[in-house]
Amino acid sequence: MKITQAEQKLLLELADLERTLDLGLTSGSAERTELEKLEKERDRQREVAASAQLNVADVELDIRRIQDDMGKLKRRFDADKAGLGAATDVDQRRDLEHDLANTSRRMSDLQQELKEAHDEIAAMRANVDRQGALLDDLERKVESAARAATAAEDAHSAQDASTRVTELRGHLSNEILAEYDDQRGIFGVGAAGFRGRSCGGCHIVLPPAALSEIRGTAADEMPRCPDCGTFLVRL
Ligand SMILES: [Zn+2]
Repeated sequence: MKITQAEQKLLLELADLERTLDLGLTSGSAERTELEKLEKERDRQREVAASAQLNVADVELDIRRIQDDMGKLKRRFDADKAGLGAATDVDQRRDLEHDLANTSRRMSDLQQELKEAHDEIAAMRANVDRQGALLDDLERKVESAARAATAAEDAHSAQDASTRVTELRGHLSNEILAEYDDQRGIFGVGAAGFRGRSCGGCHIVLPPAALSEIRGTAADEMPRCPDCGTFLVRL
């Protein structure tokens, strides 16, 4: 296969890029998956925290209603008392005393209800705090997972790398690409740099006979590693 030295450089860039992209995407996708998992957990926790908050609001409403009713009963109680102080008629006094007893009983019922509501809301507020702390914790985890995912996908962003891969492939002939892709399919590395004495694909130190054969190959030909078959671009 004839390949100019300029094409060899392009092929090497392509091979390095595709290798980085393979590795980068694999390692980045684990971080991405973890991030998505945490985001789902965070969203669920948001709902739990919001509904805990809503429950508190409901009970707060109950408490205001009870306090309102207490106020009305207290005014009625006072009015009955005042009425009793002034009333002389026996029937009227009996009615007032009856109403006073009723009012007083309802007031003590409401007092009990209010106490229960206060206990309930204290427990609910504690739950809001607990759920809020869990949410904060998940928010922090999501933030750091997002940073990890970005870092993993960084180096070249996958987008830029893919664009460059397409560009490089456009500069190389079908014959060259076919051979490179075959080798990439077999060993995972289609082409690698060669300097010193070891193959950039499998990192094996080559024996002297192989080295002299590689060095002796014409400049517009690409030698291959006798071990893994990777095309070697001499540097
Ligand atoms: Zn090799």
